[in-house]
Amino acid sequence: LVRLRARLARSQNTLGKGLLTLLSREHLDEDTWEEVEDTLLTADVGVAPTQELVERLRERVKVLGTRSPAELRTLLREELLTLVGPDLDRTVHTESAADVPGVVMVVGVNGTGKTTTTGKLARVLVADGRSVVLGAADTFRAAAADQLQTWGERVGARTVRGPEGGDPASIAYDAVKEGIAEGADVVLIDTAGRLHTKTGLMDELGKVKRVVEKHGPLDEVLLVLDATTGQNGLIQARVFAEVVHITGIVLTKLDGTAKGGIVVAVQRELGVPVKLIGLGEGADDLAPFEPAAFVDALIG
Ligand code: GDP
Repeated sequence: LVRLRARLARSQNTLGKGLLTLLSREHLDEDTWEEVEDTLLTADVGVAPTQELVERLRERVKVLGTRSPAELRTLLREELLTLVGPDLDRTVHTESAADVPGVVMVVGVNGTGKTTTTGKLARVLVADGRSVVLGAADTFRAAAADQLQTWGERVGARTVRGPEGGDPASIAYDAVKEGIAEGADVVLIDTAGRLHTKTGLMDELGKVKRVVEKHGPLDEVLLVLDATTGQNGLIQARVFAEVVHITGIVLTKLDGTAKGGIVVAVQRELGVPVKLIGLGEGADDLAPFEPAAFVDALIG
């Protein structure tokens, strides 16, 4: 966790540093506030949250009068934390009922890190003493099932897969059936994320969801978003949210961008919390999203 924090801090703290430098100026004129806005917008915070934050900062700085660096830091930390949402429920729910495993469906556009995230999440759960079955329902990308199975072998989880180009819903159904038969605690289902036809996606994900729910409740639908894709990622998020009820967001590749503001923007866009973050390609590079630690990493 310490290592992950360090990596997050390395990629993120230009935003906080930039803001602190601006707010430390002797005269906070309109130009400076515009620069504050630009800094936030450049970090993908989004227009409405940026305006809200700037308004709050203006008010508080005015009340403060003279500003010591420590006071500014505290003020900025508080306001950023409020923006990120310190009290949202960020638990990945996998509570299995008596004889049905917890079921988590992982959705998102191909290339965002869906399969990798599914594998990493399996690893976290297995390390936590839970037995996991993986469903390779991404039958669109040829290598996805192999990739998932490799993760499964690595972490000790059975992978249920079908023929290439097979029906994702039937694989998802089989995976949950297998999970029930094995008495597994959790079933994680990797899905395909082709976006070019929204109705195709809707049909496919809707069907996967429906067949899974024949066995019992679906506990989580995690949307995987690549943090480096900025506004494009938001557009994708919107499409998925129209297709399936998202319960949590996984923001991947935060190690590769300083634009951590996307956390705020996407939560605002979907009204759903960021639950996990990806900070690298390795098996241990998935972490729970902790607002306080995240804001600390922003401010440096
Ligand atoms: P999928 O098509 O959505 O299933 O995407 P993959 O899981 O195959 O991931 C696409 C690429 O992104 C792979 O090279 C992964 O190793 C990489 N990747 C996934 N998550 C992260 C992350 O958090 N950080 C970095 N740097 N790379 C990641």
